[in-house]
Amino acid sequence: MRMPLIAGNWKMYKTVPETVEFINELKKLLAGGTGGVEVVLCPPHTSLGAAAQALAGSDINLAAQNMYWEEQGAFTGEISPPMLREIGCKYVILGHSERRQYFGETDETVNKKVKAAFKHGLIPIVCVGETLEQRESGVTEKVIDTQVRGALAGLDRTQTASLVMAYEPVWAIGTGRTASDDDAQKVNGLIRGLLAEVAGREAAEKVRIQYGGSVKPENTAGLMGKPDIDGALVGGASLKPDSFAGIIKAAR
Ligand code: PEP
Repeated sequence: MRMPLIAGNWKMYKTVPETVEFINELKKLLAGGTGGVEVVLCPPHTSLGAAAQALAGSDINLAAQNMYWEEQGAFTGEISPPMLREIGCKYVILGHSERRQYFGETDETVNKKVKAAFKHGLIPIVCVGETLEQRESGVTEKVIDTQVRGALAGLDRTQTASLVMAYEPVWAIGTGRTASDDDAQKVNGLIRGLLAEVAGREAAEKVRIQYGGSVKPENTAGLMGKPDIDGALVGGASLKPDSFAGIIKAAR
């Protein structure tokens, strides 16, 4: 069975003191344990060190929201996979739609980053999803197909089996509009089928495929009840400890 993975993507929110305060509060709310759900926090880079310290001894894992693919060099403003490992990250989000939309991320750059993540022992959380325009013009399946194949090109089966995918329809991110449970399941099922094509059914069955897009405590259980939805990538509702804890509890 796949262990559900609930990840909180804080985007460009929270200072260091706010990070520590949030984590201390979340640990209190989850004092009874995470109940068979893997919990991951994805603070901004400036808060990763403080988050790692505050999370020490807990079973909550740490992720970065992005990275560059080179190990080191003259790449002003970038951060490398070994730097993320050193600071305590287990995961890294790659290809988030905001990176694609505002920072020129492409399937090719996502693929380079996915390979670099594996090279340095980080587990990528690979985001894919269609825009509203693409959805309305009926090309969702084609967009997802291209993004999945592009991001995973050249990986071996073991690597594919160990990564995390996140289906995040762009029209549902930060808008309060959630895909229906059935619509989300349809695309997550499609992603699993694509994974089976590129890496075989056995590998595909191991991959956790999250849904993301206005997930909140009230809509979590319905989404998580679907066979190919193995967790959530949560933006806005991960910024408050009680709503994030509510999502984790609803995912059990
Ligand atoms: C996200 O940032 O990945 C996201 C899904 O945001 P929100 O939950 O706010 O829609």
